[in-house]
Order: sequence, then C-alpha cells, then structure tokens
Amino acid sequence: MAVRPKEPDPNVASVYFAPTDPDPRLEITRAGWVRRLVKSRAFQFALILPNQIIFWVVITAGLFGVAAPTRNFATVITWYIWFCAVFLLMVGVGRGWCAMCPFGGFAEWIQRRTLWQRKPKSMTLGRRWSRNLSRYGLLPSVVLFIVLTYFEEYFNIAGPGEPRYTSFLVLSVITIALISFLVLERRSFCRYLCPLSALIGTVGATGMVTGFRTRNREVCLECKTKDCMRGSERGYPCPWFEWPGSATSNLMCGLCSECFKSCPSDNIGLFVQKPLTSVIQPLRRRWDIALGVLLLLGLVMFQQINALPIYTTVDNWLNAVTHFPSYPNPIDYVVIIAAITAVVLGYIQLLHKSLSGVEGRSAASFTQWLMPVAYGLIPLVAADYLARQLPRFFDHMLRIVPAISDPFDFGWNLFGTAHSPLYNVHLLSTAGVVRSQVIVIAIGAIGSIYATWHITQRDIRPLTGRLWAAKVAGALFNALLGVAMIWLYIAMAGAQ
Ligand code: SF4
Ligand code: SF4
Ligand code: SF4
Repeated sequence: MAVRPKEPDPNVASVYFAPTDPDPRLEITRAGWVRRLVKSRAFQFALILPNQIIFWVVITAGLFGVAAPTRNFATVITWYIWFCAVFLLMVGVGRGWCAMCPFGGFAEWIQRRTLWQRKPKSMTLGRRWSRNLSRYGLLPSVVLFIVLTYFEEYFNIAGPGEPRYTSFLVLSVITIALISFLVLERRSFCRYLCPLSALIGTVGATGMVTGFRTRNREVCLECKTKDCMRGSERGYPCPWFEWPGSATSNLMCGLCSECFKSCPSDNIGLFVQKPLTSVIQPLRRRWDIALGVLLLLGLVMFQQINALPIYTTVDNWLNAVTHFPSYPNPIDYVVIIAAITAVVLGYIQLLHKSLSGVEGRSAASFTQWLMPVAYGLIPLVAADYLARQLPRFFDHMLRIVPAISDPFDFGWNLFGTAHSPLYNVHLLSTAGVVRSQVIVIAIGAIGSIYATWHITQRDIRPLTGRLWAAKVAGALFNALLGVAMIWLYIAMAGAQ
C-alpha cells in the first residue's frame, strides 16, 4: 500500500491551532530585501551550488588525489571540518543543512529537469511511499544511519582512512538519493529515507529557526487553494509534504521556501524562536522520533565507549571467537546500542509504573510517557554528537590550508599554502579538547534538564498525581546521563 501524507481538511483545520501554540514573533523575512531574495526562484539553487561544487571536488579528490588521508582535500574537508560544521548548523538552525544539501539538491535538479525554474512536469515515476512503512515515520532513516555508521567504522572512513572510501560513501548516498527521487514523488527520500534526516530533524529541534510558518493562521483557515501544499505556477507543492499552517516544530521543514513563493496571500514567513522551542513546544509528539532519539543516543555513546581500552579487549575477543576480520564486531555494535536504548526504556518504564495514575482518569500508556521523556533528552543527544566531533576539528582543521592548494595531487600550489606549517598546528591541546567536550556536554545537560522540566509541566502533568516526583526524577536522570558522558570523554582523553 502507498500513502501520501494527508492534506488538511479546512473543516477540521482548527484542530491544528491549539491556543497554547503561540505564533513566533521575530520574522527573518520581514525586511523587504530578504523577502525579495527568498521569493526569487534561484534562491535555493544559490544555496546549494557552492556545496555541490565542493562535493564533486571531494569525490574527485578522494578518487584521484593524494593517498595520504591527512593531506587529501576530500578527507580533510569532510571529516575535520564539514561534519563538525553540519552539527553546529543543526544545533543553531535546525534543517539549515537541508536547505543547501547537495545530495537532495542534485537529485531534485534532475527530478525537476531544471536548476530553479517552476516546471509543470517532473521526471519521476511519482510512486507514493509505502503505507506500511510510513507508520514507522523516520525510523528507517535512523536504522540507515546506524548501518551507514557501521560501514564508516568498519572501513575507518572518518578516521580518516583511505580517501577513495570517502568518495564511495558520498557517491553511494548521491546515487541512492537520485534513484529515490526518480521513483518516489517529491522529497519522499528526505522525509523517510535519508540516513541524515532523522538526526538533523531531532538535533535540529534545539535550533533557533522555526522553519517556514504561517503569519496569520486565521487566513489559512479561510484559504481555499492551499497553494503551499498543492503548488501553484509560482512554486512547487511542499516537497516535504508539510503544511506550514499546522507546524508546531521545525522537525520536517526542509527550508526550501517553495511555500513562501506559492502562498497567494503572502501569509508565510521564516521566524526566529528561542533555543529548544521545537523540543518543548510540539503539541503532537511522535513515537518514532522518541524511539529514534534513544537509538541515536545509543549510537553516539557507542562511539564514546569504543575509544576505551576495555572495548578493544572485548571486540578483539569477539572477533577471535566469531572469526570476524576486524573492528567493530557487529555483535558488540548492535548489543551496545541496544543496551543503552534499553536502559533508557527501562527508566521510562519505571516512571510509568511508579508515577502513573490520576484519580478519575484511565492509566497512561507507556508511549504517553516515552514521548515527552525522550524529547527532553534531545539537547543532551545533540551535545554528545557535537562533542564527539571536536577532537578532529580542533586537532586537524588547519590541515585544510595545505590541502586546498593541491586538491587533485597535480603538484599545484594554488594559494601558495601547499607546504604550510599549519599542517602540524593544533587549535587546542588534548586537555583543551577534553575541556571543550565537557563544556558542550554540560550545556547539553542543562538544556535537557530545562526542557524536561517544562515538558513535564505540560505533558506529564495529566499522567501523574506526583508531578514534582516526575520533575525531580527527570532532572536527576538527565544530570546522571550527562555525568556518564563527561566521564567517558575524560576517559577517552581526546581520542578521535
Ligand atoms: S534529508 Fe538528507 S538528502 Fe534531504 S536535504 Fe536533508 S540531508 Fe539532504
Ligand atoms: S496557501 Fe497561504 S494562506 Fe493558504 S493555507 Fe497555505 S499558507 Fe495558508
Ligand atoms: S514548502 Fe515550506 S513547509 Fe515545505 S519544506 Fe519547503 S519551506 Fe518547509
């Protein structure tokens, strides 16, 4: 069975507009010149183009450039700079990366047969995403990210390992994206399949950009055309199948600005919100996001544990027993991720069993507890992913200076920096790197405690007669998790 996300029924649209969902106030697109810029059909193309050029240079440099990974442009820019920059972008702007992403951008250019114009027909079979799979929301994306990370670890791609593996990785994501865009309608790939989508969506909830939203929701209730969803001659129907009128978080807005161009009432804007608003505010939490957050937590904590000597001993032993060629053994990879997920699920079950119950109401389900508790963990998970990138960034980001002068190993010295001594300069000492990781985790833990406190106040209040116990338990659990992450970073001593 195939399914397309439902379009809003104007007769029931008022259910989307709960009174507790205040409109964001600070509009980025209020200034005339910004509105004209974003209204331009070439706007997103201009965002994607520089990244598109860099990615094709990366692919070429990885395949044909210098073999040493610490000098190759592809590995240096991808693993020392890009990965850290993307996490910073997620934490600050939500799906800012999706607005300029070369994977989706390239596939969409081909699908639409144009770089920016509005064309009536697209080159795609237009198949709808499976109804059976759609009930799992972004979980396929989480699973694919875990699988992709396994291959990245196995081939030591981000180590960085052999540069050609970085090219193969980028090429395979582009190829899968292209096939998906030619078979499935719009950006079904981004909405359901892209290995980065769930991570960007959840970590991006901490960000300060709302996504494109309606300015006056009363206008949407009266609107007969719903051009933002259905498209018009000015813009494509929302490629992410969203309705800006119903959004209460920035989770699924790819910031493509098509609705901004389409809306006949000029009723769409891009707004700034307080950090963590999209963590605390959503009125309709999703169980797939909740479970995805726990799995992503398991994955990033695996990447901390795998730097400990005890892990190496266990992994070597498992490889010997199972005759598996090298790190990481898939058994310990899966078991550690599952075990961390299970610990958090066990904690939520404990809350559910011990604190559920309000006189005169039926008992809350486990899922009703799972969703608010897991959303409260998002700032800590986001901080852990960011902290995990810092050693490579601070130790080696200056290696881009020599690498950029001769990306294809042709003996060039384009910027006169091919032999720059910056190659050996570290921005921070090992102790400084660990301190930066501790600070990032501490900020994440404070963010999680703050978010959990507010989420508990609104979403767990109807589930329990012991609200204070739930608040204190949430604060303690987040603090303990933060301490565990900090302990791991200190034990890792800046390991990459
Ligand atoms: S979901 Fe994935 S492919 Fe789509 S724009 Fe975002 S990062 Fe790119
Ligand atoms: S087209 Fe404009 S007015 Fe109509 S529903 Fe969409 S955002 Fe609202
Ligand atoms: S059309 Fe609007 S709501 Fe849909 S992804 Fe693009 S910017 Fe976001």
